[in-house]
Amino acid sequence: MRWHLFLSEFDIRLEYVPGKELIQADALSRRHDHVDQTHDENMQVMLPESMFIRMIATDLRDEVKKGTKNDSLAQKIIKALEEKSPMPIRGEHKDWLYIDGILRKKGICYVPDDIELRKNLIRTYHEAPTSGHPGKYKTLMLLIKNYYWPGMITMVQKYIEGCATCQ
Ligand SMILES: [Zn+2]
Repeated sequence: MRWHLFLSEFDIRLEYVPGKELIQADALSRRHDHVDQTHDENMQVMLPESMFIRMIATDLRDEVKKGTKNDSLAQKIIKALEEKSPMPIRGEHKDWLYIDGILRKKGICYVPDDIELRKNLIRTYHEAPTSGHPGKYKTLMLLIKNYYWPGMITMVQKYIEGCATCQ
């Protein structure tokens, strides 16, 4: 079941970000880098899911890094991690990881407080030709596999309520 989810997520990523180079951020295994549109499912299945940190598209990665520097909550979390002081947000220290300018909660990318960046992500999952405007729950489920930010549930809800196509 987990594998099925992982593989379907991978397909989604390839379809949702056409023409963009997909990289495996902070890779524990580099094998993923060579995967193209005709990805080899057998190779995927050989590698345990725990070896992967969620993928982020290259251009998005730079925006996330830049935004993280200016995000006060992210900076507080990073500080708490470094100083081993109490976290300013729910979750234990071990849930969080700060590598190469990107903050992650349980391997999932923390999206910094940048309204356009967050909106673009929702749009990517909600309005991709292959997804065809899924509802609130489905959109959130797709998004949450790769990205996290505080208040994302409310934001997804508002986005869909404001989506002309969905009304
Ligand atoms: Zn819609």
